[in-house]
Amino acid sequence: MTPQFILVRFGEVTLKGRNRTKFEQQLIRDMKRKLAPFPNTEIEHTFGRALIALNGEQYDSVAAALKRVFGIYSFSPVLRTSQELDSIREAALAVMQQYDPEPKTFKVSARRADKSYPHDSQKMNHLVGGYVLKNMPGLKVNVREPEVQLWVEIRPEGVFVYAQIEQGLKGFPAGSSGKSMLMLSGGIDSPVAGWLAMKRGLKVEAVHFYSYPYTSERAKQKVIDLARTLTQYVDDITIHLVPFTDIQVRLKQESNENLLITLMRRVMFRITEKLAHARDAKAIITGENLGQVASQTLSSLYAIEQVTTLPILRPLIMMEKEEIIRISEQIGTYETSILPYEDCCTVFVPKSPSTNPNMKIIRQLERSMDWLEDYMDQAVESTERLTIRSEEQKLEELEHLF
Ligand code: ATP
Ligand code: MG
Repeated sequence: MTPQFILVRFGEVTLKGRNRTKFEQQLIRDMKRKLAPFPNTEIEHTFGRALIALNGEQYDSVAAALKRVFGIYSFSPVLRTSQELDSIREAALAVMQQYDPEPKTFKVSARRADKSYPHDSQKMNHLVGGYVLKNMPGLKVNVREPEVQLWVEIRPEGVFVYAQIEQGLKGFPAGSSGKSMLMLSGGIDSPVAGWLAMKRGLKVEAVHFYSYPYTSERAKQKVIDLARTLTQYVDDITIHLVPFTDIQVRLKQESNENLLITLMRRVMFRITEKLAHARDAKAIITGENLGQVASQTLSSLYAIEQVTTLPILRPLIMMEKEEIIRISEQIGTYETSILPYEDCCTVFVPKSPSTNPNMKIIRQLERSMDWLEDYMDQAVESTERLTIRSEEQKLEELEHLF
């Protein structure tokens, strides 16, 4: 069977009224953009779902693109027929015959959204099931645990026959929840945190601190590559590259060694907050994970986050490392994250960073650093900004050129 259509179901059905309409309209736009490499496809929007006409495009490639769109709940390759019983039966048989080897058991689940249709669902189960059984003698019905469940949806706009349901990413359409700054290192955690935030509809701008020449150009490139991988799921990601060397060197000279990480991270959050205000972002996202390292104990998190009033979102805070790694493999960032280039923090990491930093000493130290404001302003001024566009977005821009 070559499917002619893909039936797409939208998620978060609890959304109501205007929000739901907005959600669906944006989802249709996002799908259109991700399907730019398949110019023959056409999308038709019906309430709560969409129907994509493949018009000759490959199902597998289009399906792979749909699996990168936030907000899609699930989708199915479908045959669309008229309401004629004979055509429905033929379509059902074609769907069942696509399996190799042939399944041993199945069940038909007919649903009648068009109540004017003459047969009710029970009757349709028999009419369609009986026909399939007659043509596939090895097959039996099993209502409890069928190997294949064959769906027949009778709707005013046509009848849809399918047996396969693929899971979408779920979540909210890209950017529908507002903007936030993602503190992006070259590690495993922060790209996953960014992806989870994007999945909940946050538009993400990345902030990366680098310490050239202590960290190499390749370490910077690694972070750009990670951001590029994340653009598979959105249109683009803007990344702010903040030079951090001067601040780090000076902090190292003037701080107690065991408080260096705490102080460095306090400065990172201050600078990120400044960038957030400049870019109209309303939160900071990090890849922090409770207890993972000295700077991620509860006392450290507390000491560090005092410097900002923005909400700090930590999608990974309670996760197991295994789970984080699993997501990073699934979204495609793992391979890049494990490349061995140094990070700005690891270069300056002290032998025994404090797990319980003393707030009084921190405040004292910072009060004596009268240079800090200027250095931070300088870092913000020297920040490079670049926007990485998704492959689909680039394609669309090319089309506009010609
Ligand atoms: P990751 O795997 O994301 O690097 P990590 O477990 O190595 O995290 P840390 O190095 O302590 O932990 O960093 C904690 C968080 O601080 C990171 O997840 C990231 O959000 C942020 N961060 C760390 N280093 C940088 C950096 N150089 N630039 C921007 N953000 C950073
Ligand atoms: Mg790290």
